[in-house]
Amino acid sequence: MPELPEVETMVRGLRSRVKRKTITNLWTDEKKIIHHPSFNFFKKSLIGQTIVDVERRGKIIVFKFKPKGFLLVHPKMTGHFLALKEKPSSSYLKKKSAHLMLVLSNDLYLVWTDQRKFSRIEYWPDKTISEIPWLKELGAEPLELSFSEFNRLMDNRRTRVKSWLLDQRFIVGVGNIYANEVLWSAKINPEQPVIELSKDQRKKLLIDLKKILKRAIINRGTSVAEYRDISDQEGHYANYLKVYGRPGKPCPRCGREIIRKMTGSRSTYYCPKCQA
Ligand SMILES: [Zn+2]
Repeated sequence: MPELPEVETMVRGLRSRVKRKTITNLWTDEKKIIHHPSFNFFKKSLIGQTIVDVERRGKIIVFKFKPKGFLLVHPKMTGHFLALKEKPSSSYLKKKSAHLMLVLSNDLYLVWTDQRKFSRIEYWPDKTISEIPWLKELGAEPLELSFSEFNRLMDNRRTRVKSWLLDQRFIVGVGNIYANEVLWSAKINPEQPVIELSKDQRKKLLIDLKKILKRAIINRGTSVAEYRDISDQEGHYANYLKVYGRPGKPCPRCGREIIRKMTGSRSTYYCPKCQA
């Protein structure tokens, strides 16, 4: 699933290509990925809209229009954009699992591919972002977070620290890859309750979280599965992963074998010595 660094990479790539461009046409073969409003209204309203900017909120891509309105694109499991300079063939669209295409005034074809079809796309013509109920529930952006705010979000939380990191109501953008990596980096056991973390542990956790997310953005994200940038290129952060996807390999810090533990459908990877 694309996490903050992958979505940020998409947004940065999109911004330079789509800013001040107008949507001249659109295509879909899967109307159900448009969650709001109805597909016919979606198509009728979006054509003719000029994109003023593209932003990220957590793991969500937000296209802003002039004079108002915005398009939300939540990649969920496997969604990502491809920006093409030529009109793609129908066989290409099929091969790439494309389900939506926006044609822009600079002859750019913005193709939304989503193998698993879990992505969520919404168009809101006359609301602000703060008026959308499910967006209002989202927590803080980790790269903009002060320690006092981070500490306050942890107040009295008995939940395990890894679950807390993944819960988008506290902080946004962290998924399974970066939660595992940051806990290894900060030498914190994933199952330790948040309430038991010392002030020093919390400080280290926030510092390492920011450091790892920034480093992953510089490396254009992690492509361990379907994720690609808008030029269909892989991110390079997989080369720097210390524990995620490395069960049985030696811990890069102490040499002990990395453990994989299943919690529900999610894998937790950690070093039993460094993160005791
Ligand atoms: Zn270790």
